[in-house]
Amino acid sequence: MKLSDRITNITGGGSDGWDVFYKARRMIAAGEPVVELTIGEHDIGTSTAILDAMDRAAKGGHTGYAMVPGTDALRQTVADRIQTRTGVPTTSDNILITAGGQAALFAAHVAVCNPDTKAAYIDPYYATYPGTIRGAGAVPQPIITSPEAAFQPTLDDLMAGTAGAVSLLVNTPNNPTGVVYGAETLDAIAQTCIANDLWLISDEVYDTQVWEGAHISPRSLPDMAERTLVVGSMSKSHAMTGSRIGWVCGPQDAIAKMVNLATHTTYGVPGYIQDAATFALGQGDAVEAEVAAPFRRRRDLTMQALAGQNVVRAVPAQGAMYVMLDIRATGMDGEGFANALLDAERIAVMPGESFGDAAAGHIRVAMTIDDAAYVDALARLIAFAREKA
Ligand code: PMP
Repeated sequence: MKLSDRITNITGGGSDGWDVFYKARRMIAAGEPVVELTIGEHDIGTSTAILDAMDRAAKGGHTGYAMVPGTDALRQTVADRIQTRTGVPTTSDNILITAGGQAALFAAHVAVCNPDTKAAYIDPYYATYPGTIRGAGAVPQPIITSPEAAFQPTLDDLMAGTAGAVSLLVNTPNNPTGVVYGAETLDAIAQTCIANDLWLISDEVYDTQVWEGAHISPRSLPDMAERTLVVGSMSKSHAMTGSRIGWVCGPQDAIAKMVNLATHTTYGVPGYIQDAATFALGQGDAVEAEVAAPFRRRRDLTMQALAGQNVVRAVPAQGAMYVMLDIRATGMDGEGFANALLDAERIAVMPGESFGDAAAGHIRVAMTIDDAAYVDALARLIAFAREKA
């Protein structure tokens, strides 16, 4: 039986750079000792305190259908957190609780894109972006950035790249590059959205992982709140990846319509997970800093490991749990390098190409193993690259 064009076209098909990842997984399954630096998942699990809150909520009876927009308590907690951190007046009516940031990204695009309209996003990009846009029925329009500009889009890039689009998706702190957008980039984003009458979809799931400067939410820039949908998540801030809980924050009328989408798709997020999230957010900033600390430390260890050689160069990483390494001096592309590294050293990294054309000749390293093993893997990676150069 024939399937719909929409579902068939979610992924582009062909080699998309994930071959290395699947090869590593097969090697691990076969018992080979592979060092895994591919996926953005903490080496710690969800804290016992949060799990206890989840247990209490479930055993206390919060296992039936929960409120579809989110529980009053969680929506209010998220609204307060956003208002405190950004200064933008925010109430629970501005918040829809979703099954993770991923469901929020999908809902946001469904909310603003008509079928076959163009939805712009910055390349390099988080791997699901083009498929999410296609899944929402829209047409992905990448805006290519350059390593020379540290992968920050310029006003010219944004103006040209959003021609004919209805929305612009940005992500700071950024996966895969680790780049945090500065004031100039954020101004260019706001200027572009206002000039071209775009919705901004601002993916801020790494907002607690900033090593230099501060996270600025573009929703807080003048005249942006009315046209911005912020995507948030508990996955990265509280090591709750498997709990599937996040949110969209946006104008009340947009959120009300997105509640209708939730009613007809997920029918909400489990109540005991929402209660655990409310508890987790109530624990305050120190807990978030604690979850983020290993990545800050490993980012510094990365800079130390790279010092004194020129073959492997880091894109200046100011945030998130990744570092993007430029390996063009080896003469290899990212995919070739990642494959050869896996074969020779049993170290798995992601080729830059799996995050778009702009990241060709790079590899993304997830800083997600303990410090000593991480430093050892980096040293071997650098030695391997120098040998190839
Ligand atoms: N956005 C970005 C940039 C991500 O890296 C991820 C997860 N790796 C997500 C969104 C989605 O995360 P989740 O659905 O777990 O909240």
